[in-house]
Amino acid sequence: MKALDELTFDNRFARLGDAFSTHVLPEPLDAPRLVVASEAAMALLDLDPAVAQTPVFAELFGGHKLWAEAEPRAMVYSGHQFGGYTPQLGDGRGLLLGEVYNEAGEHWDLHLKGAGMTPYSRMGDGRAVLRSSIREFLASEALYALGIPSSRALCVIGSDTPVWREKQERGAMLLRMAHSHIRFGHFEYFYYTKKPEQQALLAEHVLNLHYPECREQPEPYLAMFREIVERNAELIAKWQAYGFCHGVMNTDNMSILGITFDFGPFAFLDDFDAHFICNHSDHEGRYSFSNQVPIGQWNLSALAQALTPFISVDALKEALGLYLPLYQANYLDLMRRRLGLTTAEDDDQHLVERLLKLMQNSGVDYTLFFRRLGDESAALAVTRLRDDFVDLAGFDAWAEQYKARVARDGDYGEEQRRARMHAVNPLYILRNYLAQNAIAAAESGDYNEVRRLHEVLSRPFEEQAGMEQYAQRPPDWGKHLEISCSS
Ligand code: AMP
Ligand code: MG
Repeated sequence: MKALDELTFDNRFARLGDAFSTHVLPEPLDAPRLVVASEAAMALLDLDPAVAQTPVFAELFGGHKLWAEAEPRAMVYSGHQFGGYTPQLGDGRGLLLGEVYNEAGEHWDLHLKGAGMTPYSRMGDGRAVLRSSIREFLASEALYALGIPSSRALCVIGSDTPVWREKQERGAMLLRMAHSHIRFGHFEYFYYTKKPEQQALLAEHVLNLHYPECREQPEPYLAMFREIVERNAELIAKWQAYGFCHGVMNTDNMSILGITFDFGPFAFLDDFDAHFICNHSDHEGRYSFSNQVPIGQWNLSALAQALTPFISVDALKEALGLYLPLYQANYLDLMRRRLGLTTAEDDDQHLVERLLKLMQNSGVDYTLFFRRLGDESAALAVTRLRDDFVDLAGFDAWAEQYKARVARDGDYGEEQRRARMHAVNPLYILRNYLAQNAIAAAESGDYNEVRRLHEVLSRPFEEQAGMEQYAQRPPDWGKHLEISCSS
């Protein structure tokens, strides 16, 4: 266990030089205080959890202090936003403080979001508000606990610093962690600004640090791109299987590591709705729940374009062709497991599609349906769940098909079925209204609810005593919350 001053830095991205990032110091928050910290994320840095309670913790992550070895840098990138190319973006309010390596030899980027203006701030103030910082904190740690790759969050620091959005709010900082903060948009920036040398340096950097095994392949860059395609196909399969809607899948929000990255107006589905749009500025539904699948491919094509200096167009196309079949295989595998199936049959895709259509028409709670399906035998569970459906004949037909399928899968005892299904079907997810309750309390200075919710979501598959209120469908007020896109 380490104290805060014992972290070891090795700032490899900063060493790429000024073409890639700019040195900027964090702008301190007034009266910084700990809102919430993740012990699990602290453990990744070998940090003693007790240090979160010390004043120096809030000072470090509130922008007042820095380690001597930290090299705070704002990264430059660009990206396709809602389908159109924006030639220059960059960290407008986030700084890569440095890369810390832990005792296991892993490197973790420490990225401070809401750290003040940078050369890339454009019209923005460089700040992040408390509510969006809490949302990103809860979501990253909750996704991780669900087994969905994501950036991590070490802590949120609140403050008295006024920040103007639709109304006056308070500034906060989020300390984000990831093995890399390099986005598809980094490659696009050097491609479209025609800087082949820096583009090559970036590609070497990513290959050496994050895809070293691809060096062994005859075409290392192609192998790396294939790996990125595969990781994204797997990631999006998990989003779809668990009902996560990212909301802003611009290419600057896509990680070259295939992790969930940059949280805005995201949402987990309450009722199943394939057409759900969580981002209220997304008038055309470009990033609707079901569109995440083709958009994943679109974004990979944008990255492929930026890699044309290194890889032939034919090879890139072939690699892109892996995306959809891989997505489908991963998705179907996850959905089979959510249904409690251990074997594969040709008609399983159809079984899943029919169920989703019935859920869509009846507004069935996506998370609770699967959880309850595993509570008891297939026959008893479908009888109990039947009441949630409007099209009863349709549901009965599905239920017969499902029971027959479960029977062919094998004769497992109820206990085994429950254990297996509950291990993949969470009881607790980050519903928007739960986040909203925690945020409202935090905005009035009470951080207990954020901490409790974080705690509950860190063990989403385990039924926790006294936490029934976190496993309910949303109340009416919580069903169609408009989450502000200004963050
Ligand atoms: P986002 O929608 O949060 O992914 O941000 C898109 C771009 O705008 C990124 O380059 C951000 O760093 C930048 N940005 C977002 N909010 C602010 C802000 N309040 N001040 C400065 N830059 C911002
Ligand atoms: Mg972003």
